[in-house]
Amino acid sequence: MAEPEDSRHIRIAIIGGGLAGTTVANALFRIPNLDVHVFESAPKFSERGAAVGLSSNAQDALKHIIPESDSLLQKAGAVPMNCTRLVLGSGPQAGTIIANIGDSTGVVVHRASLLRELLSPLPSSLLHANKKLSGIQESSPSEAGTGALPVSVRFEDGTASDFDAVIGADGIFSSVRAHVLRLPEGGGGSPDHEHAASPAGFWDCRVMIPYEKAKAALGEQYFDEDRQYGWIGDRAFVMHDIAESRTMVQCVISAVEDEGEAPADRKRKLTREYLEDILKGWLGGPIGDGAIELVLDQEDPHSYSQYDHKSTPTYARGSVCIVGDAAHATSPWQGAGAGQAFEDAVILETLFRKVQSRRDIEAAFKAFDAVRRPRGQQVIDSSRGTGKILTGSDEAVGLDPDKMRAALGPRWAFIMSLDLNEHKKEALQKMEEYQRQK
Ligand SMILES: Cc1cc2nc3c(=O)[nH]c(=O)nc-3n(C[C@H](O)[C@H](O)[C@H](O)COP(=O)(O)OP(=O)(O)OC[C@H]3O[C@@H](n4cnc5c(N)ncnc54)[C@H](O)[C@@H]3O)c2cc1C
Repeated sequence: MAEPEDSRHIRIAIIGGGLAGTTVANALFRIPNLDVHVFESAPKFSERGAAVGLSSNAQDALKHIIPESDSLLQKAGAVPMNCTRLVLGSGPQAGTIIANIGDSTGVVVHRASLLRELLSPLPSSLLHANKKLSGIQESSPSEAGTGALPVSVRFEDGTASDFDAVIGADGIFSSVRAHVLRLPEGGGGSPDHEHAASPAGFWDCRVMIPYEKAKAALGEQYFDEDRQYGWIGDRAFVMHDIAESRTMVQCVISAVEDEGEAPADRKRKLTREYLEDILKGWLGGPIGDGAIELVLDQEDPHSYSQYDHKSTPTYARGSVCIVGDAAHATSPWQGAGAGQAFEDAVILETLFRKVQSRRDIEAAFKAFDAVRRPRGQQVIDSSRGTGKILTGSDEAVGLDPDKMRAALGPRWAFIMSLDLNEHKKEALQKMEEYQRQK
């Protein structure tokens, strides 16, 4: 005989074990009536890529989920960002300080180290590596009440498992997003589809360099204190900051990528000739030559086109929802993507604490969509515009320091000023509203 639905634990599958999936798992696994599992396609839970900056809103959200997050960040080797000092990097005025912007309490943390610390509180029985999602099947309304769980997930290894809810945290080209938005086959669909990820108009290359080597190449004077530097110049941007308990430096070169220029696989080989052409106005200045040397010193130096989600009509459908980059992949210009994933996790935790049975899940996901989607889209759109200013390619601002100060100054306020308790309250009100409508 089927077990009565209300007496059983609610089974939740999180697809994807990056920063979003593991943070959502941390937020949900302690809720007593939930049985949470994380499925990751890679052979082990791991992060590629360089460092992320976590501003005050990201840190606040992490603290809501993991009260001992300060020590977690310390264990992950986080280093203060101390605002971003913006300096002109090209042209005759190169070296002119424009402003210190952003968050004085922000930190920079290596992604792999942050993921390691986010995984550490999670029981290993929750974590399933080598499990690539290949399909999702939701039961039809006629199957409701039969005791069968409403969502079946299939994996590429031929196995399948049933759940009460599925949370897609499978990144920018998410298969769960494709399911929720009914996109064409192929993990996110083609970039031509209006709801699939498409080029944001920039490329970037990020490398991690031992501290002393980076200091020698970039200039000792920029390492007197822990600080993120952003160098603005003609159609390009160079950034450096410190991570891994001051043993490593992240160095980034970004540039404008005109429409139609993004390679199909997003990857572009970087040669000296190409970089010196892109940064021609920077050569002989304070930072261009050093940044080029550090990038070319890597094995197979290459960049990736930045992609983002221009529009997303919903984050939820029935018992399936999307979070993190699967829901709102943004270009990195405001350093806000991971923080958005942490905020998603806070809201899901708040809502799932009110989920008593499977019947409440749809209302919880609808409420999640209602409060999180406007904010996610605002970050994406603001970030793309910020990229234009930071590469000197915003026509109204150009490379004029005063206009840059005026244009950039207010851009971070909406990200950092979120009142998380109000946001949680709003989500709960929405959930009650949807429950009443049922
Ligand atoms: C260049 C760059 C710089 C950035 N800088 C910052 C910054 O300074 N500050 C900030 O806050 N954010 C930054 N971000 C954004 C931030 O890194 C992401 O928002 C954050 O890591 C959340 O990612 P995620 O877990 O949603 O996705 P991902 O990191 O892409 O993780 C998705 C996971 O899902 C797995 N997966 C994929 N498909 C499947 C499948 N079918 N089945 C099972 N598993 C699957 C993948 O293997 C992966 O482990 C940056 C992003 C980029 C691209």
